[in-house]
Amino acid sequence: IHDAVLGDCAVGEHAELPALIDALTGRTVSYRELDASSRRIAAGLAAAGVGKGEVVALFSPNSVAYPPAFYGITRTGATVTPVSSLATAAELAAQLRDSGARWIITVAAFLPVALEAAAAHPVAEVFVCDRAEGHRSLADLAATDAPEPTPEFDPAADLAVLPYSSGTTGLPKGVMLTHRSVSTNLAQVDALLRTAPGERILAVLPFFHIYGLTALLNRPLRARSTVVVLPRFDLEQFLTAIQDHRIEAVYVAPPIALALAKHPLVDRFDLSSVRYVLSAAAPLDAELAAACARRLGLPHLLQAYGMTELSPATHIVPPHDPHPPVGTVGRLVPGTELRVLSLDEPRRDLGPGEDGELLFRGPQVMKGYFGRDSDTAATVDADGWLHTGDVGHVDQDGYLYIVDRVKELIKYKGYQVAPAELEALLLTHPSIADAAVIGVTDADGTERPKAYVVPAFGCELAEQEVVEYVARRVAPYKKVREVEFLDAVPRSASGKILRRELRDRTARR
Ligand code: ATP
Ligand code: MG
Repeated sequence: IHDAVLGDCAVGEHAELPALIDALTGRTVSYRELDASSRRIAAGLAAAGVGKGEVVALFSPNSVAYPPAFYGITRTGATVTPVSSLATAAELAAQLRDSGARWIITVAAFLPVALEAAAAHPVAEVFVCDRAEGHRSLADLAATDAPEPTPEFDPAADLAVLPYSSGTTGLPKGVMLTHRSVSTNLAQVDALLRTAPGERILAVLPFFHIYGLTALLNRPLRARSTVVVLPRFDLEQFLTAIQDHRIEAVYVAPPIALALAKHPLVDRFDLSSVRYVLSAAAPLDAELAAACARRLGLPHLLQAYGMTELSPATHIVPPHDPHPPVGTVGRLVPGTELRVLSLDEPRRDLGPGEDGELLFRGPQVMKGYFGRDSDTAATVDADGWLHTGDVGHVDQDGYLYIVDRVKELIKYKGYQVAPAELEALLLTHPSIADAAVIGVTDADGTERPKAYVVPAFGCELAEQEVVEYVARRVAPYKKVREVEFLDAVPRSASGKILRRELRDRTARR
């Protein structure tokens, strides 16, 4: 993967171009420096025993040190397992145990969590990206007097990354992605994106999630963009970074799109440098997308679709597409096959316009779930088709539309209601800041849509008003039957609504 991304960047015409800029401190790393430091870190890691067949946990927020650490690990032949920077010690320990990671690279601020996890699952050594008493830093590793490793790679078999799925529907699963599947997907996405070197892109989504890792790290570096790095999402810092660094490309998840569309702070910034905004990772309402685009003076918001198991992207709306249809997540990347299968038995292939489960086949399909053969067999069939568990359809022109996850569909008296549709509708209410919908099962076994609503700041809202607002706009079977008010909708680090937390909350009552 490091060869596919960095290649000969140290000697080419872009060697002195900034690869990374820290949005807060302005610290800049050129392509030549990134290449050199990742090679030196690899030498230090290899001397410490890191190499082929080994796994290293990378537990850090976004920073300009993250990429050299990441490619330093892969250059030894070892696999990176990126860890959520929100992970607790127990969660980190679980990932260490599950992945078999024997080293941790973290930051001083995360050391208490890392060391507590390392007490539960012993590791060989804990390194830090920055500095901490008693721990070797990336700079120390780079300074070791060891030769750069030259592992033999089998790109189609060796794992570059072992990311964990977001855990939206259950426990996160380790997804085995080879060097080939990841680098092929970069080329597939670039075939549709086609960006010029030096494009300034903002990295606010976490590198530890496959979306950020691909859209904000591997792909832009491969395209010789300049990645401006923010450690976490804070609306004011995010807007300041766009303005001060003249950001051209902004990748977001729906909660950030929501803030861009609705938050008053947005009008105080000059965001005129932005050429496109792309949202992925969870359903985005078309009206919200349009409001966000209008606010930024863009013709439309772009979307993409993917999942960890697909390295991750299969669909993207290219920035140069003059008229993408409303609500689409894009066109199929090259070298990938798609089938839409009916949800009801006997399952059959569906044509354009018909909603069904999406199946994909192509070089970006994962090798499998790590240590979970039965989960793998249930997801990738004997012919190599990956069953996504997502519902959607393709139109006559090949644009894809996502409805929701199969498992999230609420079955109301023989009808199917997509929570995403009701959530989108609720967000169009001026007094609603955020919303989530789940199905709650009655004593008689029927499922009914229940809405969790966060009122907009300073707004009074009654349950009846919410119920009626929805009822006036949807078919009767889709009506929201119950409303509960919340301070915030629970979301994962990658921006997805944690409906299982809402279900637990309902069950506890
Ligand atoms: P887990 O599999 O552990 O329950 P997860 O499915 O959320 O978690 P990811 O691999 O991060 O883990 O997310 C992939 C899922 O995100 C897809 O299967 C799909 O449901 C959703 N998704 C991604 N992009 C979009 C999009 N543009 N619109 C709607 N949903 C999307
Ligand atoms: Mg999933």
